[in-house]
Amino acid sequence: MNIAIIGAGISGVSLAFYLNEYRKSGKDINITVFEAADVAGGCIRSVSQDGYLVESGPNGVLTSKSHFTELFAAAGLGDMLERSSELTHRRYIQLHGKLNLAPAGPIAALTTPLLPFGSKLRVLKEPFIHANTATADESVYDFAKRRLGKGMADNLISTLIGGIYAGDAKKLSLKSAFPWMYKLEKDYGGLFKGMIGRMKALKAEREKSGEPRKRREPSRLISSATGMQGLVSALAEKCDGVSFRYNCPVSKLEKSGEQYILHTKDGEFHADKVISCCNAHDSASLFASLDDELSKAFAQVQFAPIFICGMGFDKSAVGHPLDGFGYLVAPAENSSTLGTLFSSALYHGRAPEGKALVTSITVGDRGTNRELIKEDDATLTRRAYEAAKSVLQLKAEPETCLTFRTEHAIPQYYLGHEAIVSTIEARATALGGLYIGGNTTSGISVADCVLRSKAVAEALVL
Ligand SMILES: Cc1cc2nc3c(=O)[nH]c(=O)nc-3n(C[C@H](O)[C@H](O)[C@H](O)COP(=O)(O)OP(=O)(O)OC[C@H]3O[C@@H](n4cnc5c(N)ncnc54)[C@H](O)[C@@H]3O)c2cc1C
Repeated sequence: MNIAIIGAGISGVSLAFYLNEYRKSGKDINITVFEAADVAGGCIRSVSQDGYLVESGPNGVLTSKSHFTELFAAAGLGDMLERSSELTHRRYIQLHGKLNLAPAGPIAALTTPLLPFGSKLRVLKEPFIHANTATADESVYDFAKRRLGKGMADNLISTLIGGIYAGDAKKLSLKSAFPWMYKLEKDYGGLFKGMIGRMKALKAEREKSGEPRKRREPSRLISSATGMQGLVSALAEKCDGVSFRYNCPVSKLEKSGEQYILHTKDGEFHADKVISCCNAHDSASLFASLDDELSKAFAQVQFAPIFICGMGFDKSAVGHPLDGFGYLVAPAENSSTLGTLFSSALYHGRAPEGKALVTSITVGDRGTNRELIKEDDATLTRRAYEAAKSVLQLKAEPETCLTFRTEHAIPQYYLGHEAIVSTIEARATALGGLYIGGNTTSGISVADCVLRSKAVAEALVL
């Protein structure tokens, strides 16, 4: 059976790895990966310049996502994984022009200066708010406001959404973007009750299995000495027996009988099964000649555009101690920056000795920011520097700048996303032999992509 994977980002590469394991254990399959770029990684790119290492996409994956570490352990790459520093759980939020420590839990939320007194009292009412019984899709913002109050929704939840989706909490669907939170209310009646309920359930499971109680360490990030891209490249190299075709975009996809025909500049390729691991924007073009409804469904998915600006300074030029993960900027600040990572404080080797690297994530799908992506690199870089200048007490211009712009960076699971996903899945099933991987249907994080690939591999061969 010929299997074609389109796209060699983390989704395509992890899928190739899982399928290759089945091949090695006796499944009669040939696996070919088609990738438009000349390397694996997709939106994961780690670039070195002047001794700095800057990420164009994710800076790491949380250690709590065990299937990600298990994947690398299974590939014999466990030793490559590097944990971020203990400072990871120390995060700041910029509000009213200054940085305040973000509350690390519900108790800390009651003492944070990020919430006015009345908003703190409102948070305490959460356990007494009735669960929503309406069936209409609810936005993340409306959910947060309904359960926790406006102060929490504006100052904390909307800020966090900028850090995760580079998006707008008022547009994102709770059910699609944060299904676990939606389920907490559905299953337990609320967030506080849900957390207690989940703790009790875990305790009961532990007692049943006789497992001793473990002290839960705060989650950290994982990357490697060569950054996130080093991990994806190493995983691709472990897929011995898989054919990776780089610089080989699939320009058109057709079906002839039970087989798919992939058109590339190197000729036609026939496959029994095809898995698309490219983003929704590219999938819309890929499927245009195959299925109009499928193509249109992908085209409905909106993206947050992102401009990344990695700025390297002499440590003496940075007044802030950079003693944490970084900071997120509250929407009320009306900034072009959504957040800034203290990259050199997170991992070793991100900046030369005596230097500091901060990486600003700018533009996004927030307010009128989306329009800023039309500006040139120099203008956006200046904006990133000016936005960081007073909060980080910068005394000099950066000595190195590395920038990346991505128009279709992070898919936004807007209200109604569930219907788009249903159409995509129904069309793929109707066509037969077609599977959808990647970050369009079931989560945008690297760990979500890996989980999706694992499930697709299972569905394909079992
Ligand atoms: C700036 C940024 C920051 C992020 N931060 C985090 C984070 O901190 N933590 C986290 O967990 N996640 C983060 N994410 C999200 C996460 O990185 C992505 O969801 C994930 O990497 C997507 O991987 P993918 O393989 O599905 O898609 P992609 O990485 O987009 O890869 C798709 C691949 O398909 C190829 N392709 C497209 N069309 C074709 C074609 N026709 N033929 C052949 N090849 C094609 C592309 O060239 C590309 O290589 C971030 C994303 C961005 C952009």
